[in-house]
Amino acid sequence: MDTQIDELIKKEEKRQREELQLIPSENYASKNVLAPLSSVLSNKYSEGYIGKRYYQGNTYIDEVENLAIERAKKLFSCNFANVQPLSGTPANISVYLALLKPGDKIMSMNLASGGHLSHGSPVSVVSTLFNIVFYDVSEQTGVLDYDQILEQAKKEKPQLIIAGASAYPRIIDFEKFSQIAKEVGAYLMADIAHIAGLVASELHPSPFPFADVVTTTTHKTLRGPRGGLILWNNQDLSAQINKAVFPGGVQAGPHNNVHAAKAVCFYEAMQPEFKTYTQQVIINAKVLGDELRTHSFNLVSSGTDNHLLLVDLRNKGTGGKTIAQALDKAGIIVNYNMIPYDPSTPFKPSGIRLGTPAVTSRGMVEKDMVKIAGFINQAVENLSDDVELAKIREQVINFTSSFKVPGLDT
Ligand SMILES: *Cc1c(COP(=O)(O)O)cnc(C)c1O
Repeated sequence: MDTQIDELIKKEEKRQREELQLIPSENYASKNVLAPLSSVLSNKYSEGYIGKRYYQGNTYIDEVENLAIERAKKLFSCNFANVQPLSGTPANISVYLALLKPGDKIMSMNLASGGHLSHGSPVSVVSTLFNIVFYDVSEQTGVLDYDQILEQAKKEKPQLIIAGASAYPRIIDFEKFSQIAKEVGAYLMADIAHIAGLVASELHPSPFPFADVVTTTTHKTLRGPRGGLILWNNQDLSAQINKAVFPGGVQAGPHNNVHAAKAVCFYEAMQPEFKTYTQQVIINAKVLGDELRTHSFNLVSSGTDNHLLLVDLRNKGTGGKTIAQALDKAGIIVNYNMIPYDPSTPFKPSGIRLGTPAVTSRGMVEKDMVKIAGFINQAVENLSDDVELAKIREQVINFTSSFKVPGLDT
C-alpha cells in the first residue's frame, strides 16, 4: 500500500466532511458512481467506437459504452450521444473542430459576464484557432439581453454561437438563442455543464430541440464522475462530431471506467429522488441568496433561478480573493470570481461565486442555508481576525458533523 497517497486521501476525506463545500461546480458523487472508477475497466484500451475498435477484447467495454449512450439519450431526450469526452473542455473543443474551420467566428459569453475559458478566452487555445467575439449581460440588470445579442450577431455574423455559462444565476432562453442563430445562419451550441442536473430534472428549460449540439460535464449538478458528454439530434452531424472526438486530436483511448460511472450517474438522475434533490438545490440557493441579502450582500441580477449565486462585494470594501481566503480559514469553501463589468482584474476580482449542489447532497435544507449565511456574514465581519475565523471554523465543523457524506457514509 502507498501510505503517502493513502494518508492524503484520508485527509481530503476529512476536509470534504468537515468544511462547507459551496463551490457551485462541485458535488458529492454516490458510492455507486465512485465504484466503477476504481474498477478493472480502467485497464482497457478501446480506441474507436462500439463494434469498430482498434483493439481486441472489447466485448464488455462495448456493452458499457452502449449503456451509457442509451441512458444519456433517454435522460436528455435526444437522438445521439458521445460519452467519450474526457471532460467539458475537450467536449467543447471537439465540437468546434467538428463544426468549424480554423479562423471561423465564435460568439460566446464574456468570462466576466459568466462565460467559460473554453468558450474562447484569450488564454485558451480556442482563441488561437478561431476568431472570438464576446457578448455580455446587461450592465444594468446583470441579465442576458437577447435583443442586444441579436444586434451584435447580425453585425458579427459568427459561424457558431455558444449559449451557456459558469457563473450565470438566471435561466438561459435557448429558444431565443436559436432564433438568433437561425437569423444569422450560425450553429447553436448549448453548454449546460453547470445546469445539466437541473435540465435532466426539467427544472431548467431543455436546450433541445433548439440547439444543434449540446455539451456538458457530468460532475457538476449531474452528480456523476468527472467527465464530458456531447448530445445532438441531427444524424447529419454524427460523423463529424464522432470523428472530432476520436481520432480528431483532443484525445485517443477513452476512459472506460468513467463510461461506466457515467452510466450509473444517468441511471441515478432518472430516479424520482434525483428530482427531489435538484428541487431542493434550487430552493436552497434562493434561501441562501435571500439570507445573504439580509446581511447586506449584493447579488448580481438580484437573485437566482438556479443553483448558484454571484455576490458583488464592492460594498464590502474588499475583493473576492481576500474574502474567499478568509472564508477558507473559517471552513467555508467558495471561489473568487469576476462580476459583470468588473472594475478590477481576474486576479483580484470583485465577487465570489457560491452554490448549493454539494451541501444539498449532504441533506441540508432551508434552515441550514440560514445558518450558512450567518457563518459567511460572521466571517466577512471578522476578515482579518484569525482567532475569530478559527472559532467560526469550529462551529462549522460542529454543524457539518451531523450531515452524512455521500460516497463515504451512504
Ligand atoms: C465547468 C465548465 C466547463 C469545463 O469543464 P471541465 O470538465 O473543467 O473541462 C465547460 N463549460 C462550462 C460552461 C463549465 O461550467
